[in-house]
Amino acid sequence: MDFLGIDIGGTRIKAGLVDDLGNVRRQLAESTPAGLAPFRQAFADLLRRATGDSPLGAAGVACKGIIESDTRVAVIPGVFRFLEGQDLGALVREALGSDLPVYADNDARVALVGEMAWGAARGKRNAVMLTLGTGVGGAALVEGRLLRGRSGVAGHFGHITIDPGGPLCNCGNTGCLETFFSALAIEAEAIASVHRSSESRLTEEFSGGEDRLHCSDVFRLAEEGDEAARSIRDRAIGRLAAAVVGLVHAFDPEVVILGGQISRAGSILLGALSDAVATRTRRLAGGRTPVVLSQLEDPSGIVGAAALARLHVGGAVD
Ligand SMILES: [Zn+2]
Repeated sequence: MDFLGIDIGGTRIKAGLVDDLGNVRRQLAESTPAGLAPFRQAFADLLRRATGDSPLGAAGVACKGIIESDTRVAVIPGVFRFLEGQDLGALVREALGSDLPVYADNDARVALVGEMAWGAARGKRNAVMLTLGTGVGGAALVEGRLLRGRSGVAGHFGHITIDPGGPLCNCGNTGCLETFFSALAIEAEAIASVHRSSESRLTEEFSGGEDRLHCSDVFRLAEEGDEAARSIRDRAIGRLAAAVVGLVHAFDPEVVILGGQISRAGSILLGALSDAVATRTRRLAGGRTPVVLSQLEDPSGIVGAAALARLHVGGAVD
């Protein structure tokens, strides 16, 4: 029996069939439309093409923001304002014309469920996940239960305060981790450095072409020895390390898992975080908490969402 995994992302909606062992059997993607009517249309079309005639056990949906897991309603759907108040379960059932059970949750929490089923959190009872992308998402598995909190906000580790005097964040707080370590934050700092005409390869390559500058360029140039890129990268990693050390002290996890596009930025990130965690948690947590990369590759949104569905219909998380 296959599970339908759906990932509603900022730029693309992905849907795919995943078998009981976590293998993706088919996956399709579509650009995310900017309004409810075109979204419904594209969503329905994508889901029908992804499922075909395959018999399904259940469907899982990963979406940014705060998703009421009991009702599958998108309460604060991040950038997708048009999805606010929408029942994601109903949207899926309507698209497929069936009464398939549907489960939905925040995308970072779903990524952790995927790791619990088939990845780095397999067999663990305590784990912390960080998804490092345009923003920073997070989730925690505590004593075998996914932490939700009073209103579903628990695990938003991108909004841990790193510097109370720091920049205003979209959440209303100032100096959140996300304002220092995220693709957007790192790109903004690199662009500012180009505008200051700092003597660097960053300026040479991107002066007048700042809109082409991507976070991965900062990591690439840093690796190649450019001082400006290196200082931006190292400052950002230092702030992320401070947050991870705090999380280790708060949750005492068996593992810290990094997912998202920036987690693949190279061995430097994993090495620097592992060193900081080992050194700075040595007294309380023994410095032994491993920091590892997500074991689910690119389609992790789909795989995690399928794992969420499988979890709810009785598939053991082992
Ligand atoms: Zn924030």
